[in-house]
Amino acid sequence: MILVVGGAGFIGSHVVKELVEKHQVVVLDNLSTGHRDAVDGRAVFVEGDLGNIDDLVMVFRSYPIRAVMHFAANSLVGESVVDPLKYYQNNVASTLTLLRVMNRFKVRNFIFSSTAATYGIPDADLIDETTPTRPINPYGHSKLMVEQILSDFSKAYGLQYVVLRYFNAAGAHDSALIGESHDPETHLIPIVLQQLLGKREKISVFGADYNTEDGTCIRDYIHVTDLANAHILALEALMIGKKKAEVYNLGNGLGYSVKQVIETCEKVTDLKANVEITDRRPGDPARLVASSQKILNELGWRAERNLEKIISDAWKWHCEQRY
Ligand code: UDP
Repeated sequence: MILVVGGAGFIGSHVVKELVEKHQVVVLDNLSTGHRDAVDGRAVFVEGDLGNIDDLVMVFRSYPIRAVMHFAANSLVGESVVDPLKYYQNNVASTLTLLRVMNRFKVRNFIFSSTAATYGIPDADLIDETTPTRPINPYGHSKLMVEQILSDFSKAYGLQYVVLRYFNAAGAHDSALIGESHDPETHLIPIVLQQLLGKREKISVFGADYNTEDGTCIRDYIHVTDLANAHILALEALMIGKKKAEVYNLGNGLGYSVKQVIETCEKVTDLKANVEITDRRPGDPARLVASSQKILNELGWRAERNLEKIISDAWKWHCEQRY
């Protein structure tokens, strides 16, 4: 059985939906930001907290866990700056509790959600896994600390792991049954779609004076289903012993500016957005685009869904948002 911690969240719930096709799955989630309705009915659901060792021991005692996928984390850069304690507690200390219990129950396979924020403000135009990691906020630091812990645990205790560094996860499941639902919402694509649906008055573009072609920031948007598929490949590579300790970027190698994203949303929905240009958001690098060549070469994964597909699936979800 595969344990998915944080399986009720945006990315976790999409991974669970793919995972249940091939594996038995148990989801542990405290529903602090996740949604019970997002969890596929074929998975066992346990409401509990990663930081609570009793909850973890109960799950490991009750189910024959062979591998763990860990999505349960706080992930807002701005919040991490004003409340670093929350980030080091939930993202680092609780993960350590999980790893302690895995060790005790001799569960050796681990997939960890990491982030482009581990790179900080990189010099490289195309970021690969050899680009130096220099986080600029507690969120990025918290994820990189866990990456270091995993590397040390693999050498000392034989833990096998794959770290996946996501760029800008977006989109929704093709069925529109699950999708992105954060409160408050801070991400660009849902904000644009909410404005187009009349749920917000306007969209603020955070800075149009960056050193990019149209002056707005460039990001690498990746469909959540493509992300989910990468997790399945990484898990299978661990379980057959093909991989023992790896880090992969997950992006599509294509950058889109904030203006291009808004234009694509307008095109897909055939609606006109109400946009204002405001000051820059602190801590935003001008350009973050991934090279995912390594995972293509080693596991045969590539992003298959383009920006229009990301936005059209997100639009279907937002039109009938279920939770
Ligand atoms: N952004 C924006 N207005 C918003 C939300 C985001 O201009 O209301 C910009 C943000 O500055 C960044 C890009 O959109 O350049 C993507 O931001 P998001 O928060 O979606 O993801 P991040 O790159 O911060 O992980």
